[in-house]
Parts: sequence; C-alpha cells; structure tokens
Amino acid sequence: MTKYKLEYIWLDGYAPAANLRGKTQIKEFAEFPKLEQLPLWGFDGSSTRQAEGKSSDCVLKPVAVYPDPARKNGVLVMCEVMMPDGVTPHPSNTRATVLDDEGAWFGFEQEYFFYKDGRPLGFPENGFPAPQGEYYTGVGYKNVGSIARQIVEEHLDLCLEAGINHEGINAEVAKGQWEFQIFGKGSKKAADEMWLARYLLQRLTEKYEIDIEYHCKPLGDTDWNGSGMHANFSTDYLRDVGGKAYFEALMEAFGDAREEHIAVYGPDNHLRLTGKHETASIDVFTWGVADRGASVRVPHSFVRNDYRGYLEDRRPNSQGDPYQIASQILKTINSVPTS
Ligand code: ADP
Ligand code: MN
Ligand code: MN
Ligand code: MN
Ligand code: MN
Repeated sequence: MTKYKLEYIWLDGYAPAANLRGKTQIKEFAEFPKLEQLPLWGFDGSSTRQAEGKSSDCVLKPVAVYPDPARKNGVLVMCEVMMPDGVTPHPSNTRATVLDDEGAWFGFEQEYFFYKDGRPLGFPENGFPAPQGEYYTGVGYKNVGSIARQIVEEHLDLCLEAGINHEGINAEVAKGQWEFQIFGKGSKKAADEMWLARYLLQRLTEKYEIDIEYHCKPLGDTDWNGSGMHANFSTDYLRDVGGKAYFEALMEAFGDAREEHIAVYGPDNHLRLTGKHETASIDVFTWGVADRGASVRVPHSFVRNDYRGYLEDRRPNSQGDPYQIASQILKTINSVPTS
C-alpha cells in the first residue's frame, strides 16, 4: 500500500469570479487511485462564501483525477461542490450545468499576465516599458525578461506530466502577458483541465513570488491589450454535417442569445470588448471569415470544407469560467434544429 496525497480542488462562491481552493488528505491505495475509489469529502463553506456559519458543511464530490507531478505520490482531484445531502449540486457548482455531450469538443486559449509588486512582470516601477509591438511571440530578454519563460516551460511540463491536454504556448501582445491552450473532447474535459492548469500555474508561481492576473483589462483604458480566453468549439453535427444553412441558423441563434453569452463570458468584459485591440464591440454580435475583429471567427478551413469543422468565439475573457462558457455555447447550439 502507498500513502497518496490527494489534493481536492474546487471553485469557491466568490462573485463575479470564483477562486480555486484546495486541501489535502492522505489515503492509502494499492495503486494510483481511480475516480470511483475517491471518497466524498467536506469543507467549511462559511469560509468560501458557500454557506452560512450555522450550517456550514459543503460536500466535495470528485469528478476527475490526474497525477500531481510536483508532489511525491500526489493526486489532483477536481471536485464539484454539493449540498450536505451529497447529491444536490450547490448553487456555485457551474460544472453541473454543462450538458453531457461526448461529441462536443472545446479548445480554450487562456491569456493572462504575470504580476509582481502590483504591476505586470517586466514593467518598470514608474512609467511603462517600450510600447507593444515586439512582445507577441517575442524572444530575447528585452521582450520576455528572464523568469517568465522559465515559468511557462515548467508549467507546460507539469501539465503534460499530469496528462492535461495542453496544446501550446505563446508570449502575448503586452509585456508580461502570455497564453496557453487546452483542448478536450467531451463537453467538460477542456474546462476541467483548464481549471487544473490554472491551479498548477498559480501554485507554481508561489515560489517565484509572482501572481497570475486574470482580469481582462488590468491596465485599463490604455494602449495595452487586455486578456481573453477564446473558446473554439465543435460538435458531432458541426464536424460531420454542417452546411451553410445550418451555420447561418446557428449564427442567428448566437446573435439572439448575445446577452446570455456575455453574462457568462467573464466580468468587466465591456472594458475589453471595445472594438479595438482585435476585439468586437460588446453590444453587437458579428461573425466573419478569418476576422479577428468579429465576435465569432470562422476559419477559412471551415468554409472550404462546406461549413464543417470548428468555430472560434472570441468574446470570452481571461477570467471567465470555462464551465459556464461551455454550458452556454451548448445551450445555444442545442436550440438550433438539425435536419
Ligand atoms: P489562434 O490564436 O489563431 O486563435 P490557437 O492555436 O491559439 O489559435 O487556438 C486554436 C484552438 O482551436 C486550439 O485550442 C485547438 O485545440 C482548437 N481546436 C482545433 N480544432 C478544434 C475542433 N475541431 N473543435 C474544437 N476546438 C478545436
Ligand atoms: Mn480542520
Ligand atoms: Mn491563440
Ligand atoms: Mn492570444
Ligand atoms: Mn484565438
């Protein structure tokens, strides 16, 4: 038997954006534990804005399990928060709202800033570094500094060793800003792995005394880019059947549901979706082929392939909850009849 360190990870009840929480319990198993072997656990919901003090127990239900490469005999256990009965989802449990759909695939592009001493990593104590231009996909100390690449490389290795489907990295447009991509087949897979990748990034940067700033416009109304989390999506029908008429009906449904989408695409998105810096205005829904200024970008390959393949919703922001984003996208897709 081996004593495993089980890190139970969940989303708290903070609004408008939940925080990650985690705590460890030690359990003995003969080999690396399977999901079915992991017990329910509890926590004090009054400390996470998920319960009142007088009746504070919330339940953690394991839903996904991965090895924790940073810890000897470590296990990452993604959990849903349940009511004390253990079966009713807690109101903060957004994962429970995602329809099960094995054919739904999502790819999220997480942009974020490294922050140190209250400003982006690499910004001078006063004023600004050289304006944007050479940072995006940049190389060299003056463009990316000395620590950032070390962190993103370590984070990449942690994700790959854990079995998270990390697909790539790039330095972004602003100094101190980076991106990574997570792709998953199944409606909840990419969202589970995005939350775990965020967890690994935040835990990793503790030792560097650096924070991750997920806010979509940390530098406000300046000439510095904000951060998004583009959501690339496809379904069985979109990949296998598609067609121009279905695509147009889908885009009409996206337009009709604009407000419902914006409501879950991350806080303060009006600061980011201005029509500048490769964004669309928050107030209108647009789509365009290869258009990075549209709400939904349609890849050339999609049109070439008889309107089959995947689409990119560019509106979700860096602080968005991928469960809520996936949930709303599927809701809108499912409102459109297929023939
Ligand atoms: P860009 O920065 O040009 O938008 P990225 O390479 O950063 O492109 O992101 C593209 C994303 O699209 C990746 O996360 C990828 O996994 C995802 N993707 C590719 N094919 C599909 C598909 N069929 N369904 C859903 N997502 C997909
Ligand atoms: Mn205790
Ligand atoms: Mn990208
Ligand atoms: Mn990007
Ligand atoms: Mn993109």
